[in-house]
Amino acid sequence: MAQQEKDIFVGKVVNLLSDIDSEKRIKERLCPICYYIKNSYLAGRAFTEWSCEGCDEPQPMYPNTAYPKLCNSCSTKYGLCIRCIADIYLCGRVKLIKK
Ligand SMILES: [Zn+2]
Ligand SMILES: [Zn+2]
Repeated sequence: MAQQEKDIFVGKVVNLLSDIDSEKRIKERLCPICYYIKNSYLAGRAFTEWSCEGCDEPQPMYPNTAYPKLCNSCSTKYGLCIRCIADIYLCGRVKLIKK
C-alpha cells in the first residue's frame, strides 16, 4: 500500500472510531464501516430494480447499480445498515456508554 493510501485509510479509521459524522450517518442509515470505510461505491449509472432483503417488497428504482439491501422502513425498524445489514449503532452504543 502506498504511503498516501495508508494515510487516507488511517484517516478513515480515525473518523470511524470517533464517529464524527454520526448524525448524518444515521440519517443515511449506514453502519460506521459502510459510511466511513466503504463510502466510495463504484456504481454503474443505470436505474436498477431491487427488492428489500428484509421484507421482500419490491422497491422504487434505484438511480445506480449500488442499490441497498434493505428498504428504509426495515432499516429503521431493526436499526440495521441498509448496505450490509450490520447494526447501525455499532459505534454509537459505545459512545452512549461512555457519556
Ligand atoms: Zn424492507
Ligand atoms: Zn454497513
